Amino acid sequence: MPEPSFRRHDPTVAPIPLVLDSPHSGEVYPDDFDHAPPRSLVRQSEDTHVARLWSGAMARGATLIEALFPRAYIDANRGLHDVDPALLADAWSGPIAPSRKCELGVGLVWRLARGGVPMYARKLRSDEIRARIDRCWRPYHEALQRALDERHAAFGSVWHIDCHSMFAIGDELSDDAGCERADIVLGDRDGTTCEPAFTALVARTMRAAGYGVAINDPYKGVELVRIHGNPAQRRHSLQIEIKRTLYMDEVTLHPNAGYARLQRDLDRLVDAVAEYLHDRAYTEPAFSTQK
Ligand SMILES: [Zn+2]
Repeated sequence: MPEPSFRRHDPTVAPIPLVLDSPHSGEVYPDDFDHAPPRSLVRQSEDTHVARLWSGAMARGATLIEALFPRAYIDANRGLHDVDPALLADAWSGPIAPSRKCELGVGLVWRLARGGVPMYARKLRSDEIRARIDRCWRPYHEALQRALDERHAAFGSVWHIDCHSMFAIGDELSDDAGCERADIVLGDRDGTTCEPAFTALVARTMRAAGYGVAINDPYKGVELVRIHGNPAQRRHSLQIEIKRTLYMDEVTLHPNAGYARLQRDLDRLVDAVAEYLHDRAYTEPAFSTQK
């Protein structure tokens, strides 16, 4: 595992109060990740290419935090108590609160791979899981928190986009198995993690570019937007899920003919967000220029 387990990409122009993170696009498989299914199947849990698709954001003033570790090894978009008892070889010291995701086999450490195939041919020791938390989960979360705090301190407000991708059709690891998904799914946990105008701006911009957009259906946003979204403190956090078939083959993970168009449209989305933030940040009381 490379140290650190994440990469921070900083702006190449004057910063704006925007931070992106890509928790699921990591492709560096640690030596101690002894998954049972073939790597090609395990890799289907990745949001492959997502950090690259958003890489134009740094030329528009945003910072991007990119996870390097694979999502199936430890999932940065899950809470630390979301431990699956069925995975453990020994007792977990501390509270366990398995979520619905954990029941589906995709908690903090995934029990299942695509198709419901067991991820391991053995149980995991709790100290192995704790090592993954300390080497991957915590540094990633600390890096994202730091980037958000820096922007919030500088501008009085910060906007966060948590970047993901999803299968075109729900599978057995999701609650919408067999259902066709929209091109883009925005999640603000039913309007609680960011101001409604921000969700509306992103939806409007992507619809104008020709994409079908759903809001909080089937994904409302999970741990990262839950932690970082607090509109009352001028911290706005929105999850964006992109349908993978828009930009790659879901099985081979190779970019398809749509990749370049999507990347261009995400650049334009960040342009629209930057314009919105300019107006918002300068009208916030905390950023008043009045003497
Ligand atoms: Zn994801």
